[in-house]
Amino acid sequence: MNNQKQQLPELLKIHYGFNSFRPGQEKVIDNILAGISTVVIMPTGGGKSLCYQLPALVLDGVTLVVSPLIALMKDQVDGLHKVGIPSTFINSSINRAETANRIQAVKQGRYKLLYIAPERFYSVEFMIALKEIKVSLFTIDEAHCISQWGHDFRPSYIKLKNAIELLGKPTVAAFTATATLEVREDIIKQLGLANPNLVITGFARPNLQFGVINTQDSRKPQFVLDAISSAPDSSGIIYVGTRSRADQLLQTLLSNNIEAVSYHAGMNTQDRKWVQENFMKGKAKVIVATNAFGLGIDKPDIRFVIHYDMPGTIEAYYQEAGRAGRDGRQSFCLLLYSPRDRYLQEFFIKGDNPPPEMILAIYEIVKSYPLDNAHDMESDTVLITYAKISEMLSGKLSEMAVGTAIKILEREGYVTRSHDRAGHAYLKTRNSQLATRNALTAKSKSQRETLERLFDKYEQELISGWYANLDEVADILQIKKDTLLRLIKKLSNLNLLEYLPPFRGTELKIVKRADGAGVKLNFAALKYKLKHAYNKLDLMENYIYHFGCRQKYILDYFGDFENKKCAKCDNCLVKNMHEVEKIQ
Ligand code: ADP
Ligand code: MG
Repeated sequence: MNNQKQQLPELLKIHYGFNSFRPGQEKVIDNILAGISTVVIMPTGGGKSLCYQLPALVLDGVTLVVSPLIALMKDQVDGLHKVGIPSTFINSSINRAETANRIQAVKQGRYKLLYIAPERFYSVEFMIALKEIKVSLFTIDEAHCISQWGHDFRPSYIKLKNAIELLGKPTVAAFTATATLEVREDIIKQLGLANPNLVITGFARPNLQFGVINTQDSRKPQFVLDAISSAPDSSGIIYVGTRSRADQLLQTLLSNNIEAVSYHAGMNTQDRKWVQENFMKGKAKVIVATNAFGLGIDKPDIRFVIHYDMPGTIEAYYQEAGRAGRDGRQSFCLLLYSPRDRYLQEFFIKGDNPPPEMILAIYEIVKSYPLDNAHDMESDTVLITYAKISEMLSGKLSEMAVGTAIKILEREGYVTRSHDRAGHAYLKTRNSQLATRNALTAKSKSQRETLERLFDKYEQELISGWYANLDEVADILQIKKDTLLRLIKKLSNLNLLEYLPPFRGTELKIVKRADGAGVKLNFAALKYKLKHAYNKLDLMENYIYHFGCRQKYILDYFGDFENKKCAKCDNCLVKNMHEVEKIQ
């Protein structure tokens, strides 16, 4: 181990060009090399990636990195290649044959890091393949996703505990920027870690200047314009509470000649990608976004983050605000508050906490819904949209609340959401490639080429019937999605291909059919969670009305008490001014 440790400073220099570690990094790496499982709580931008990438280089087996950020995996792996670290990834964008290739290469020791989407652990095939791989380190990025207390709970993360056991309990390193006690404890519990070491560092952000303006909704746009003009030519994020506010505020900014874009979950993948790229490259200076934007975004020179609406918790606020000033330079975080902001958050809390009787009603709806067995007679599966369920409940529950209820049913083991088919089109050839190709007219040379590319890569899948994400397929084949769609529709019209367009709802598999009293939900826990959410909202609102140092308020909230006043937030500045006046 000592030998491995001695190599570290050199590797840090060679691969990354850094001369020293950031706070906490060395401690985490020491733990990992000593085989001590560790939960790392380090703020966004603190340098978590290096904590597992560097040991991965010196450990003899492979380091698994579980990450929910599928869209970023390719970039991360490309980035690692640039600094000479052999790595690869497996997620839903990789076809079966390529997945097998990559696993084979991992077995042969060609990669030090393997990034995987948590959904992979639903696949038995994948788990079996993993068992033949020597995993030296099991890394979980964005580990708060495992916690129902986190703002980003992912049911698939629950599978990780099992996977760790199956792999013979390798060293585990779990990383998050979410610092609350309950999330911390949940991570440890849900991963089944016995006595892990805890490393919590660097939550203070000395280069961030916090401020709050308590105002009315109607005056917020002017404050935004003022704030932007105080930082000319700088990149910034403006977080808004709803999609419609994103669109509205964007119009205000554009009509004031500010190069802005907007981003929210209601936009299609292509638009979002375009917007994100423009912002990352600095072409669009300002992005107006809902909280759908930002997880894992690594743009160092964001000079300000403005919250147009009060978020629901301090951790959500600090995580979003913390995207400012990753390069260490002076940046500001401004929160615009109007007392009405609380109602929006209460609406979200209700959406997050459907009443237990509604959860039961949804379970009944799902059980009695017509089964979808077009392709698999055996499957106890329904295809349904949240809107449909909401409608069947006479609109008593928002779609958001329906979604939460289904997550709860999933957690309690009554249903599972399949991630394989949502948003995927179904394709199956009715003919050999040759017959298909011959059926295309002589005129459509480009279509024949597209067809060849498609078959080259996916022949096996097309023959056996395939749920495909057409965006990803187009990406992989390096053709436009429209081109791919035109070909598919043509083949389908010629009756050469069976094609079902993507289903825009959710595929639910009923795991357990229970009746009435047989359904056991943890009502006490649900009630506690609701109360908890209101407590957190109160603590967020207290931040607004707080008179002391804002940075210190936040750090105290996270249990990081060894911090002095920041001397630069709005409250600290006002206090300084009073003191100067007293001296004069
Ligand atoms: P996190 O995952 O904690 O949000 P990242 O791992 O993405 O943070 O790192 C944030 C930035 O900090 C990256 O640009 C990274 O290159 C840089 N960084 C990490 N460690 C160091 C270090 N020891 N010295 C200098 N820069 C570092
Ligand atoms: Mg990270």
